[in-house]
Amino acid sequence: MPFKSLGLCDPLVQGILATGYTAPTEIQSEAIPAVLAGRDLIGCAQTGTGKTAAFVLPILHRLSHENKAAHKGVRSLILTPTRELAVQIEQCVEEYGRFIKLHALAVYGGVSMENQIRTLRRGVDIVVATPGRLMDHLQRRTIDLRAVEVLVLDEADRMFDMGFINDVKKIIGHLPANRQTLLFSATMSKEVKGLAAGVQKDPKMIQIGQQHNPIETITQHIYPVRKDQKMDLLRHLLQSGNMYCVLVFSRTRHGADKINKHLDRAGIKSVSIHSGRTQSQRQKALDGFKQNKFQVMVATDIAARGIDVDGISHVVNFDVPAFAEDYVHRIGRTGRAKALGDAITFVSDDEKQYLHRIEKFIGKKLKFEPCPVFASRKAEPKPDQSASNEKPGQHQEKKHYDKPRDAKAHGGKRHDERGHGGKPRQDKPREGRPEQGQSHESRPHYGKSQSGRPQGGGSFSSGGKSKSFRNRRKKHTRRF
Ligand code: AMP
Repeated sequence: MPFKSLGLCDPLVQGILATGYTAPTEIQSEAIPAVLAGRDLIGCAQTGTGKTAAFVLPILHRLSHENKAAHKGVRSLILTPTRELAVQIEQCVEEYGRFIKLHALAVYGGVSMENQIRTLRRGVDIVVATPGRLMDHLQRRTIDLRAVEVLVLDEADRMFDMGFINDVKKIIGHLPANRQTLLFSATMSKEVKGLAAGVQKDPKMIQIGQQHNPIETITQHIYPVRKDQKMDLLRHLLQSGNMYCVLVFSRTRHGADKINKHLDRAGIKSVSIHSGRTQSQRQKALDGFKQNKFQVMVATDIAARGIDVDGISHVVNFDVPAFAEDYVHRIGRTGRAKALGDAITFVSDDEKQYLHRIEKFIGKKLKFEPCPVFASRKAEPKPDQSASNEKPGQHQEKKHYDKPRDAKAHGGKRHDERGHGGKPRQDKPREGRPEQGQSHESRPHYGKSQSGRPQGGGSFSSGGKSKSFRNRRKKHTRRF
């Protein structure tokens, strides 16, 4: 079905085609006609389904068909839990609406309020905001939401998780009661249903994919490994596998830095992103990763929310997330827009409890695959006893492959060539301190220049990646 048949106007269809989309995704086909008809909507959809365009496109259509002079002030408000999502959604508004004359602004914390105030004064049609900073503007009376016609609550479940819900309710109190309200959530908890009931009128419900189930295009691998050997396993996989664009997750900021340093020392181009880094460091890291300057980006859960990088070939859970929802969110960073993706989770003995929680949450048993055989640094002979002239990170890998313990888990997978073996051994690992919940001001966010555009990461070197490396990553992303 072409975009045109959904009832979108010509300049908008041209904008979508210029973005590179040829046909609507399932959620877009279902949601766009309903929103154009003025209905409230609940979209229960996982990350990567194309839900942003499902709400941005009909909003752009509606606003571009109204007499602007008759409508002063903000006409659509999109509330989203994180700064990086706010930036990304605003970028989508700009991209899809490139042939339409509407003004959008991302309003989020960690950057100057003055620039936002100045832009708001000049007149903005669509505001994409995080709740904390928007509350600051409302308290200072630097934003007027009395003309809002369409409200979007994006990632409503995360609004609850991140403790924003009271702010969200206060913000809704500043909006006219007569409005269209669109609510999107990956999960429909009791709380989300309660919120919807309080703020919507007779919403159309759209459910895309089975709830909780990680996206079908992602192959999940679960490797048992001792905690003190995870670093070696990671290095082995990165150096021997076809892993060219990898997002590694660590539960803690300290852990993320440690992994990043270790990979760097092993000659693997890597960068880290977490809330302990400055805003410009985070923006540079993300830009560099997007531009293929790094093979690996190491991230914490909070920093990774909303990261939308095309062509992530693998997600590696260096540790098992303590919250089952985070697992779904983490692995959803690959397999975006129906591209293929692999998610690998390292599980030490003490983390099996978390794995069980994930299995319960996604309603699926996750089978252990035999861990690929790798040379552990601890088990290697001291350098003076070694005959080889290896450089750091280039040690000889064992070439023998053990039989898989579970032939079913092993059979037919794309990772067979890595080899398998190695039973999990008992160890007494040190517990990492989970990243604490932060105030909205200290949450991850990405910088914008004075002009309001995201800053580029110009100071990074090319990272020495060959063209074929870049091409492989391009090929990996399969569009609809
Ligand atoms: P979202 O779920 O909105 O975060 O979108 C996930 C990814 O799908 C993003 O990289 C979008 O650019 C991409 N996308 C959204 N709609 C389409 C479409 N109709 N065709 C191809 N890619 C799309």
